[in-house]
This record gives sequence, C-alpha cells and structure tokens, in this order.
Amino acid sequence: MRTDYDTLIIGAGFSGLYALYRFRDVLGLRARVLEAGDGVGGTWYWNRYPGARCDSESFYYSYSFSEELEQEWEWTCRYPDQPEILAYLNHVADRFDLRRDIQLETRVVSATFDDVAAVWTVETERVERFTTHYLISAVGCLSATNVPEIPGLERFEGDWYHTSRWPHEGVDFTGKRVGLIGTGSTGIQATPVIAAEARHLTVFQRTPNFSVPARNAPLDPEGWKWIKQNYRALRQLTRESSGGFPYIPSERSAMDVSDEERNAVYEQLWKEGGFKFVFGSFHDITRNKAANDTAAEFIRRKIRETVKDPATAELLCPTDHPYAAKRPPIDTDYYETFNRDNVTLVDIRSDPIVEITKTGLRTGKASYELDVIVFATGFDAMTGSLLRMDIRGAGGVRLADKWKDGPRTLLGLMVAGFPNLFTVTGPGSPSVLVNMPVAIEQHVDWISDCVAYMAEKGVTRIEATEEAEDAWVDHVYEASLETLMHEADSWYVGANIPGKKRVILPYTGGQLVYREHCDETAAKGYAGFELR
Ligand code: NAP
Repeated sequence: MRTDYDTLIIGAGFSGLYALYRFRDVLGLRARVLEAGDGVGGTWYWNRYPGARCDSESFYYSYSFSEELEQEWEWTCRYPDQPEILAYLNHVADRFDLRRDIQLETRVVSATFDDVAAVWTVETERVERFTTHYLISAVGCLSATNVPEIPGLERFEGDWYHTSRWPHEGVDFTGKRVGLIGTGSTGIQATPVIAAEARHLTVFQRTPNFSVPARNAPLDPEGWKWIKQNYRALRQLTRESSGGFPYIPSERSAMDVSDEERNAVYEQLWKEGGFKFVFGSFHDITRNKAANDTAAEFIRRKIRETVKDPATAELLCPTDHPYAAKRPPIDTDYYETFNRDNVTLVDIRSDPIVEITKTGLRTGKASYELDVIVFATGFDAMTGSLLRMDIRGAGGVRLADKWKDGPRTLLGLMVAGFPNLFTVTGPGSPSVLVNMPVAIEQHVDWISDCVAYMAEKGVTRIEATEEAEDAWVDHVYEASLETLMHEADSWYVGANIPGKKRVILPYTGGQLVYREHCDETAAKGYAGFELR
C-alpha cells in the first residue's frame, strides 16, 4: 500500500530534527515531522522559565553528526541558556533545510496500526490523517507536564504558570508576591532568578534536594579554540563514557581513600562545578550507600556553611534519600538565595498544602498571600508523553493497557505488539541518565541503520519479540538494583505521579553497556526482533 509518508516523526526537538535529517537526507525516504508547538526545539521550545539553562556543558550538549555544524556554531558560555539552545536548534533546522518537512502546531492524538497492510495511521488534533510505514516517536522524556491536583486552583485570582508552559513574552515579577512549588532541577534554577525580581518569593518545599554549584561562566576564547581543534576526540570520549560526558570517569572508590583525600576531591569538584561532582569524583557514589553518604554529608556541610539561618539550613538539608538517587541538580546561587530578606522557605512535608485560595494558598497551619504561583512540579516522565497519545498496535491493543503495570520495551527502542514503531529515548533506555544529545544520536542512528538493513533485506516489518522484551525488562530491573535509585521517590521510578506504577524507567546500566547491547543485536541481524 502506498502510504502518505515512509516515515512520520512525532516531535521536533533534538531527536526529531536529527531523525528527519537521517531518514530524509541520509536514507532518502519520504519523511515528515509533526510538532505540537509553533516552533522547533522540543524541551527548549517549551521550558522558557526564568533561569532555564542546560546542566550539561555547551560544547558537548550539541550534535556531533556534522563537523561543519560543530565548527561554525559559537557557544557563548559554559552552560547555554534556553534562548541560546533554542537558537542553535533553529539554526540546525535552517542549516539542514529541515523546515520544509516539519508541520508545526500539529499535535498527534492517536496512532493506529493496521495489521494487514502494516501501516500506521496517525491522527492529529487538527483532524488530519496521515499514513506512514514507519512511525518514530521523538516526543521526549520530560514533556508531559505535571500540574498537581491541589483543590481550589480554579479559584485563584492571581496568575499561575507551570515552568514548562511558560509564556513566550515572559512574566514580570516586579512588585509581586510569588509562591514557587517544587525544588527539583527546575525550581532550583528558577528560585534565584525569581527572587532577584519579585517583591517576595516563598519556596514551598516538599523534599529538599542536593545541589552542586554549576559555576557558569563565559567560554574563554582560547579554551573554545582548543575544544574546536579537539572536537573529534572529545566526542569520542562522550560516546565511550557511561554518562555521555567527555570526562575520564574516576576509578577510585570513595571508601579506599582517607577522609582528607576524599574531602579534597569533593572540595576541588565543588569549586569546578557541575556534574563532574557525580561522575568524576568516585566511581561508587551512585552505587554504594556508604560511599554515597560521604558525598551527601559533604553537600549538607556546604548547605550549613552557606545558609545563615540554621533552621532554614536544616530544612534545606536532604536526609531521606541518597545523593543523586534523584536527578542531581546543579545551580547558580540556590542556597545563597535563602539569605535574602525577600525569600522564605516553607516545609510542606510537615505541613502540606491543603488548598489554593482566591488570594494564595493555605497549608494546614498557615495561609500565604500570593500574586503568582509557579509550579515547578515536573513531568509524567518517560511514559507520559507516549501515553497521552492513543497508540494502538497489532490487534488494536492499546499501549496504555500494555503498560498498565509499567513500560515494557526492548532496549527502550521498540515494543512487542507495536510493529514499525520506534521510540527514541523510550523507557528502558539510558537516555535521561546520559547527556541527552549523545543518547539521542545513538538511538536515531540505530533506528535508521535498522531501517536501512530492512530495505536491503527486502523486509517491511519489524517487531520486538515478547521473549526478548521480557528479558530486557528483567535486565533493566536487575541493573537498577545495583544503584541506589529505589531509595528515593523520584520520577526515575514514577513516584512523582499519584497512581503511577512504581517501576524503574531508565536503564541504569550505563551508556557503554547499553551501546554494546544495541550493537550486538544489530550485528546478529536484529536478534530479539522479528523481521518479515
Ligand atoms: P522534578 O525533578 O520532578 O521536581 C518536581 C518538584 O516538584 C519536586 O521538588 C517535587 O517534590 C515537587 N512536587 C511535585 N508534585 C508536588 C506536589 N503535589 N506538591 C508539592 N510539591 C510537589 O521536576 P523538574 O524540577 O521540572 O525536573 C524534571 C527533570 O527535568 C529533571 O530531573 C531534569 O532531568 C530535567 N531538567 C533539566 C534541566 C537542565 O538540564 N537544565 C533543568 C531542569 C530540569 P518531591 O521531590 O517531594 O516529589
């Protein structure tokens, strides 16, 4: 059957743009992107909240597929802010002439597989229908917004915003009393910036978080020149490291060094800033509780040294979960912000929010008058963006039903019973635990190589087998037991969404091991997949 497209791609973020390039320009297929927003950029299109900035460094939080692109683009600082990354992605769309095959303002609402014709029919909110042979989900891991159901929100007479649906014209906080709910990576980035503008900021904290300074700074021209000269080698390092970062990971255990030596390592990395504190300190801080305790205690000491009011400092010190068992934030002056006269920290763990009122919000014990409420309350991560579409595979089976007890995938790439549907950075892949562009390129390359292989072999249908999927799901779970992630209530395990099944979502075995699994599968003629 002649379909409208060979390949439909849902989403025009980092994944969708690269998928379009690979499918259209490398494979020569008829490919089209459907994107809900009115611009490209995905995460970086939606998340325009104050302080939005990448936690990975600019020179490696970028595509590696084009040396020309790499050489011509100029990053301005160590961690690019949201407008700069959005400008980069727009540049990519222009440079590779991608826009002519991207349809904006087009939200996909359903996708249905026709078992006989082996064709996907995709329907959009605008009531269009497209048929396609291959369907690529590039909807992102953190795009289904979570606004908690707190009674009374509809009564609130002030303004309220979720950080990932921020108004494009910005929000003026001048003279306003602002309440911010949520102290994940987003809340931690937004807090200092909002505090600097608002009349008063009240941060409503349910769980304190461990944050390490980012130490953002302009890129120095000599350093940038060196990076450009050595880009290939740096990219290779990102592909060879577990987290997709160009650092040589530490081989030392935190338990094998003296207290002085360990503290010196932490002090040095605290000064340098960024994720290196996790990946470059000791190999076991995310896996061994005793090793983890040393890092956690170091950060708590820093919090107590920084925050002048001892009661506030104690409230900011996490004690109920290991460091980095939740996604570790990095910050610019987060803890320092609590020394400002116009900032108050409220513990909503001991005194939860009861309702939102016309003029603010109320906990069990107190009322807070607010002009603006900012929800930095995160996402229905990894599965939400897929399940918010009605996806039906072979035999009309709904993905939502198949995943009612948690997502099941093979390599995070395909789902048994959903032929020719590929999920870029899907659940069961390391994605969110890896520097994302590195994870995305690896996934899109694997998928497009697979499609090229199918064309070469003259087969038109690929599907994960149930047995291989079961084995991968088991492996994902077993790998997670080697980490401390089950000891925290985080979105990594679906614990942030009421009613969501508690299941480890990303693959924690590391990018290197994961790549080996993917490469080996391909080398064996896509073992674990049925091709026909
Ligand atoms: P998040 O990590 O899920 O944090 C959400 C925050 O909201 C948590 O503090 C959570 O408290 C709180 N919360 C959720 N529901 C609540 C409720 N009903 N009542 C009170 N508090 C509630 O979300 P996020 O900060 O948006 O970050 C999500 C992910 O996006 C990050 O982990 C990261 O992967 C990515 N991100 C990346 C960057 C970057 O690279 N620049 C920046 C921001 C975000 P509990 O902890 O108690 O659940």
